[in-house]
Amino acid sequence: MPVKVAVNGYGTIGKRIASAILKNSDFHLVGVAKYTPDYKTIIAAKQGIRIFVPRDEAEAFKSLGIEPEGYVDYLFEEAELIYDASPGGQGAKNKELYIKYRKPAVFQGGEDPSVAEISYSTLCNYSSTLGKRYIRVVSCNTTGLLRILCSLGVANIRRVFATIIRRASDPGEDMKGPVNSIRVDSTRIPSHHGLDVKTVIGNVDVETVAVAVPTTLMHMHVIEVMLKNTPCASIEELRKQGRGRIVTVSSTLADSTGKLLEIARDIGRPRNDVYENIVFTNMFSCREDRLVLIQAVHQEAIVIPENIDVAYGIMNIETDVYKVVDKVNSLLGIGQLHVM
Ligand code: NAD
Repeated sequence: MPVKVAVNGYGTIGKRIASAILKNSDFHLVGVAKYTPDYKTIIAAKQGIRIFVPRDEAEAFKSLGIEPEGYVDYLFEEAELIYDASPGGQGAKNKELYIKYRKPAVFQGGEDPSVAEISYSTLCNYSSTLGKRYIRVVSCNTTGLLRILCSLGVANIRRVFATIIRRASDPGEDMKGPVNSIRVDSTRIPSHHGLDVKTVIGNVDVETVAVAVPTTLMHMHVIEVMLKNTPCASIEELRKQGRGRIVTVSSTLADSTGKLLEIARDIGRPRNDVYENIVFTNMFSCREDRLVLIQAVHQEAIVIPENIDVAYGIMNIETDVYKVVDKVNSLLGIGQLHVM
């Protein structure tokens, strides 16, 4: 029997999790909890997704022509697994409800790590998910960094320094900035991204700095990894260890986030989503013990594979991480970008 899943919060991440669940016969989307009657609600309703709302908001949804399926608490009662995709910080408050309804839950990277028993990234710690009830999937930049570090092998790493050039906002968030400025995105070194990486892989020496730039199309990372005494890593090996989640493209073919998202459009990816880290082939250098690379990370999409992977662990469906990765890759069409 498919596992009954609820998605609590239907924004950038929640709607993508819901779409991925709808494709997967191991899971059944019971419905989504929606808090604001907006265009996303209308589209979801037209797609046949059951919408659950807070009791005091039902009339507002009805005035939009949306007949809610029920109240949010009905959704939690019906589900066997809840994805919390609420705005950062709200998930910790929602957790009280998940405890009340005795449901396991997957939280997102905007939450403090203390919300969950573990912070998670598939290529690093899938086996730790088994038997847990509360798991936090780390955020987009952290996922992008961790896929690289865990593919290189944490035991092979002496030190990491990464510069994160992060997008200002998601495309629909036109109230946010910076609009015409480059902003230092942290009040100290390291930025929180490096600290977040350590919540998954422990006390590895990782330092990050971040700046925010006026774009909505992906982040870029410039990463330097000092390796221990190993033969220098090759880009082919990195791609192989990335199990489809790391792909490469030469910047002589596509040198910008705009072009990468156009490729996603051209290959018919839903919502132009790029689930993979895109490492620029010609921006990868490894000499002696020093590896440098530049990669692009699509903030809206990169955490979606990990969010689906984790359900196989938290629900004790599959112990073999590679079986899970292969399954989720095939579900999301991960692998098509290898044409480049
Ligand atoms: P969002 O603002 O796009 O969506 C959040 C949704 O939650 C909204 O639709 C909002 O109406 C709804 N909501 C409001 N109150 C709620 C409540 N009490 N309970 C549940 N939902 C409620 O946010 P997002 O970008 O999808 O981010 C969600 C989480 O995912 C955050 O923790 C964020 O840090 C993380 N994340 C975001 C990105 C990204 O680039 N957007 C990437 C990775 C991780």
